[in-house]
Amino acid sequence: MANLLWLQGGACSGNTMSFLNAEEPSACDLVTDFGINILWHPSLGVELGNNLQQLLKDCVSGKIKLDIFVFEGTVVNAPDGTGTWNRFAGRPMKEWVKELSAAADFVVAIGDCATWGGIPAMAPNPSDSQGLQFLKKTKGGSLGKDFKGKSGLPVINIPGCPAHPDWVTQILVAVATGRAGDLTLDEYQRPKTFFQSFTQTGCTRNMHFAYKVSMTQFGQRNGCLFYDLGCRGPMTHSPCNRILWNRQSSKTRAGMPCMGCTEPEFPFHDLAPGTVFKTQTVMGVPKELPTGVDKNSYIKYTGAAKAAAPKWAEEDMFVV
Ligand code: SF4
Ligand code: SF4
Repeated sequence: MANLLWLQGGACSGNTMSFLNAEEPSACDLVTDFGINILWHPSLGVELGNNLQQLLKDCVSGKIKLDIFVFEGTVVNAPDGTGTWNRFAGRPMKEWVKELSAAADFVVAIGDCATWGGIPAMAPNPSDSQGLQFLKKTKGGSLGKDFKGKSGLPVINIPGCPAHPDWVTQILVAVATGRAGDLTLDEYQRPKTFFQSFTQTGCTRNMHFAYKVSMTQFGQRNGCLFYDLGCRGPMTHSPCNRILWNRQSSKTRAGMPCMGCTEPEFPFHDLAPGTVFKTQTVMGVPKELPTGVDKNSYIKYTGAAKAAAPKWAEEDMFVV
């Protein structure tokens, strides 16, 4: 049996909504099949008021063993570092976060806000928000760069806006069943099993990417979204085309560009007008190239690809 506590800071509840839609395994499976005891969750917990406060105190003191502490949303520090803009159970949430993280075997940050600040931490960051162990790409965050849970692991970051439900439940199962040692984390503490490949890995538009056949309107069935519509699939680490959304599709399969929501810089360019859904170029060359590709190579291969593109690549091949 592994005790799990889930709290929300500066959040829209999007990751909770995502979590409750998990299928492989589902939130119910966590309880019935994988021995997770959900001590409390904002949408599932029954304790209120003094009872909830006592539960949290017992987790901090060790009276109740806290195996997994899950946090969703940013850690709010405003105003003036007090955190009182986000009070919870009688005190600033940031104080609960600090004490519960110190008491837990594993700390898991779910979604961009909890991992690195996400949209709330965009300049000018009025709520003075941080992620648990990062602020954007800078390590440190609310808990500090040297923080480790009692298990010896730093915060396990599962980013996304929101995170895919099955990324969440599969990592929770791994931790709860004693397989945390199998997890390897990348430089941003994301589990490599999900975040080593790119959004582009498995995208059905890869052949259009290869022949530089572009699409210019959302939802078209032919063409790649990289060249005009700002798709970040070739430089975003996510399994969105390997573990499909709703078991059906992905953003790029449906004809919408990947916005890079699993990367610490998201939202890129702080959503300045003209930077969203539009490839930023200089002299016709994208300012941001696929990971690992340099400008000269890009110019050579796209020139050759365009010249070699077969006629069918420009045609609508989807007849059903
Ligand atoms: S649509 Fe995006 S993810 Fe798909 S092939 Fe093009 S650039 Fe890559
Ligand atoms: S396709 Fe891109 S923007 Fe959409 S969920 Fe995946 S990583 Fe995030």
